[in-house]
Amino acid sequence: MLIAGQVFHPERASDHLEWGWVRLEGGTITQVGKGPAPAKPDLGDDDHCIFPGFLDAHVHLPQFDSIGVAGLELLDWLEQVIFPAEARWEDPAFASDMAERATASLISFGTTGFAAYGSVHSESVREAFASIAARGVRAWFGPALMDRHAPADLCRDADRQIEALASFEPMGRVQPAVTPRFAVSCTPDLLAKAGALACAKNWPIQTHLAETRAELELIREMFDEQPYTEVYDQFGLLTPRSVLGHGIWLSEAERALLARRMSVVAHCPTANRFLEAGAMDRAGLSSAGVRLALGSDVAGGPDRSMVRVARAMIETARARGDIAPTPAQAFRQITLGNAEALGWAKSGRLAPGCEADLVIIRPTIPLHEHPDPLGALLYAWDDRWIEQVIVAGSIEYDHRR
Ligand SMILES: [Zn+2]
Repeated sequence: MLIAGQVFHPERASDHLEWGWVRLEGGTITQVGKGPAPAKPDLGDDDHCIFPGFLDAHVHLPQFDSIGVAGLELLDWLEQVIFPAEARWEDPAFASDMAERATASLISFGTTGFAAYGSVHSESVREAFASIAARGVRAWFGPALMDRHAPADLCRDADRQIEALASFEPMGRVQPAVTPRFAVSCTPDLLAKAGALACAKNWPIQTHLAETRAELELIREMFDEQPYTEVYDQFGLLTPRSVLGHGIWLSEAERALLARRMSVVAHCPTANRFLEAGAMDRAGLSSAGVRLALGSDVAGGPDRSMVRVARAMIETARARGDIAPTPAQAFRQITLGNAEALGWAKSGRLAPGCEADLVIIRPTIPLHEHPDPLGALLYAWDDRWIEQVIVAGSIEYDHRR
């Protein structure tokens, strides 16, 4: 398959689109060129743009039907909105259908890879895991581990949860992830077992860290005044393959610890705004040497489009008075930046040998004379521009269908 258009290359220092073409064979990009395509393209032409598939580093699939309940603080929102929604995943058929629906929805917004949380129900998450794998996306996915501070029907015995998770296997491009929801809903015993399992299997870890002040208070009470980040560290949960959602309320010492462990903080600006959790200090974390990713955090975040999440990242930095990322850096974050954070070496860019995950758009605003085409795309972004989304070489979304 040959695709032509203005190509975005996040690995290059240039912040411009480059007229060119991309050739795919099977699930792989085999050739990339500059200038006119060597033959009649199958998709795209000079008024199209080609991006690497967008990547979402933090999202909750069981929460896709709960977008839009505003006005609650995180802990109340979990109790009143999210736990009842996640309880429905007790039914494996429901979970499998919903995972399929959520994955299709993400693909339609240009997302071809994500790190996602399931519910606590291991068997339902196993079914959902297969649904995600069937769509071809690259993903981390695992049951949200919980054994306290949640309704009784959403708490599980620590040993049983860990044993069930240990029997997961990678499938397609989906990798099991050790996913303790957050230290509030996990006993030290469960956290220790989660850390040990991740170490034994060399699996990635995802959890939440320092999202709201009320959560910090609770952690201080529950863990004897220990700093939040150290709680995870003592159980072996801070590794180079750990992605911690939010990281808003962190001390200098905690930032330094995250940097030493080479763990990743997933900034979720749309969720932070929606739940009024605070404005994450992205520039400060970055200068402390903390690796960063970007996530939608649906349903804490109402936006499924990573382009809108990237725009919110810029707006959050501006509102704080920090030096804000440029539109080119924002598009880089949701492609190559997130790929690097998640350790996906063949994702996030359009180069020979990379996985064939692409978004083809046809913007309705003229870019040729525009002084900042990527700025135009970011701020005027319209999901109706998306013509095709290609996942592992196959057209998984087509606007004509
Ligand atoms: Zn989250």
